Amino acid sequence: MNESTKTNLMGMTREELAGFFVAHGEKPFRAVQVLKWIHQRGITDFAAMTDLTKGLRAWLSEHAEVRAPEIVMTQAARDGTHKWLLRLDDGNCIETVFIPEEGRGTLCVSSQVGCALDCSFCSTARQGFNRNLTAAEIIGQLHAARGHLQPEEGQSRVVSNVVLMGMGEPLLNFEPVVAAMSLMLEDNAYGLSKRRVTLSTAGVVPALDRLRETGLQVALALSLHAPNDALRDQLVPLNRKYPIADVLAACRRYVGNGGHHSRVTVEYVLLDGINDSQAQARELAALLRDVPCKVNLIPFNPFPESRYRRSSGAAIDRFRDILVQAGYTTITRRPRGDDIDAACGQLVGRVEDRSRRVMRFAALENPPGAAPP
Ligand code: SAH
Repeated sequence: MNESTKTNLMGMTREELAGFFVAHGEKPFRAVQVLKWIHQRGITDFAAMTDLTKGLRAWLSEHAEVRAPEIVMTQAARDGTHKWLLRLDDGNCIETVFIPEEGRGTLCVSSQVGCALDCSFCSTARQGFNRNLTAAEIIGQLHAARGHLQPEEGQSRVVSNVVLMGMGEPLLNFEPVVAAMSLMLEDNAYGLSKRRVTLSTAGVVPALDRLRETGLQVALALSLHAPNDALRDQLVPLNRKYPIADVLAACRRYVGNGGHHSRVTVEYVLLDGINDSQAQARELAALLRDVPCKVNLIPFNPFPESRYRRSSGAAIDRFRDILVQAGYTTITRRPRGDDIDAACGQLVGRVEDRSRRVMRFAALENPPGAAPP
């Protein structure tokens, strides 16, 4: 906390950093130099930033810092998935997941501490909502993960893709999420292609339009989960505010924007006996007829006291076949890292409850099955 008077440069976009340097009588190009040190080389100590003048390095050490959330626990799943518990300054913790696949590595990033949407099948919802993450805390997850994954020589891109599919609803934390995504895309920072950065939303319609207006053109995923409003109202309460027709219209505007010929990824968690019938598959196929999209079917991942069951393999295959026959690219997402509760909808972090702070810290310092960070 003694550092709190220093300006944290971690979450600053190139424009913000340039403004910061100009305000202190420096040239704007310092922003590019510092971005490269922080985000490309993972350096947080100003003394090591050798292309800055000695005077500037000293001044920065006194007035600024480069700080990411601290990794307090690491778990590795049998399939190579990693999950990190990251502690924030106020004692809250969030989770970040790394999923290695053939030819790519995807980092699943959180945008809020907890979540306010209260979707009935998601364990993050059980935590309630505590607060939004700052841009530094969002991009800091990528910074920390990259530092931790230690690429082999010449392999700069262990993390080739980022999905905002961790804890929280990214479109309810708009500015920090946009700032963090612009650093993901920024050539002098992470330089990821815009097709490899995906924002997933339950469908906050006005914010979806604002996202389109930023021109960032990141890939979009929509958590749909039901083929009609009556059922979606139950599963995703946000639907009562922004019903399916409005959400799909906003998605069409988003992907139709200025030659941005992408498709929305429609996410659909398959819940046994709830949304997985053949009739519902046909209803979904009809619903999506005018939406440029592909469909990701997600077998439900259970968590303690969840009231749903995963659909059977046969039901999942039948559901997929109906969508494929209707012409949709449809894939069934393989549950990853489920032995360490790192799969979709299983991220819970530690949402601070002040009255029980001491107890929770004790639990954190000696977590079951933890490997040292
Ligand atoms: N709030 C955003 C970002 C979270 S993304 C959104 O809703 O898109 C997390 C994804 O995992 C969403 O598609 C979510 O619906 C899905 N999910 C949540 N709980 C799940 C569970 N128990 N099993 C499988 N997928 C789940």
